[in-house]
Amino acid sequence: MKTILLLLVLFISTYSQAQNPIDEKKMYVRSVYLVSKDKLPNPEFTGAINSTLKNIQNWYRLQLDGYTFNLHPEGVRVIKADVDSTYFSTTPNGNDKDAWGILNCEKISKRIFGGRFLDPNSIWVVYSDSTDWGGQGGSGFTCMPGGDLLGLIGKNHTNLNIERWIGGAAHEIGHAFGLTHPTNNVQTNKALMAFGWHSDYPENTFLSKEEKDQLAKSPFFYKDGVSILGKVLEKLYVPEGWFELRENGHWYEFKYNNSISFVFSKVSENSNAFR
Ligand SMILES: [Zn+2]
Repeated sequence: MKTILLLLVLFISTYSQAQNPIDEKKMYVRSVYLVSKDKLPNPEFTGAINSTLKNIQNWYRLQLDGYTFNLHPEGVRVIKADVDSTYFSTTPNGNDKDAWGILNCEKISKRIFGGRFLDPNSIWVVYSDSTDWGGQGGSGFTCMPGGDLLGLIGKNHTNLNIERWIGGAAHEIGHAFGLTHPTNNVQTNKALMAFGWHSDYPENTFLSKEEKDQLAKSPFFYKDGVSILGKVLEKLYVPEGWFELRENGHWYEFKYNNSISFVFSKVSENSNAFR
């Protein structure tokens, strides 16, 4: 009975900070603490992920003049994986060995709770207590390993500064939002998407003008609960992304890297456009 109860707790355990109801039309950043089969959940990690995401949400708000992403009201979900902590970095998944960690993390996430690349409604932030790889992000999904979790509670002995690990997550989340490394990437560059996350977060690192412009068009960014694009009235999915009708009357085409590729207006039903 004890075992069953424990398992139930592990599987259902959702740390709900549900102050706000879920708005089906809103786009959210969702977070998961993925506990490997050979590990026990550490509540300290859950708390650290929660405060890290709030910290990063606030950092983006300061950078973007009040705009930032929504954190899903369900808070950090704690979910048990059915693979061990060594699985992620050691199980072949494509030619690039450095990508095995994130690809395996996405594979497991997708199968167990639906977290994945290219999810039109969510950006996924997964912390896995897995070993021997570095966090990565892109196309709506980021996964960070056990070393980052230790970092968030000040116990990663390669770097005891917690802000280095929060900054690292802010950088990976930037990738999940479709940001890339700056082309003028040099070792001394303090930009978040260059190397600013390492020792300049939060005060001395920044988003570039181009990155701010890109995020200002992202459907994931809101100010005081309102999207810069207005409310979504209709949404149509296509293989490469989706189309949205916003309350300003325009249709927007989104590609899965979260950037807008086209904005257009509906021609009236009985228009002469095709004559
Ligand atoms: Zn990067």
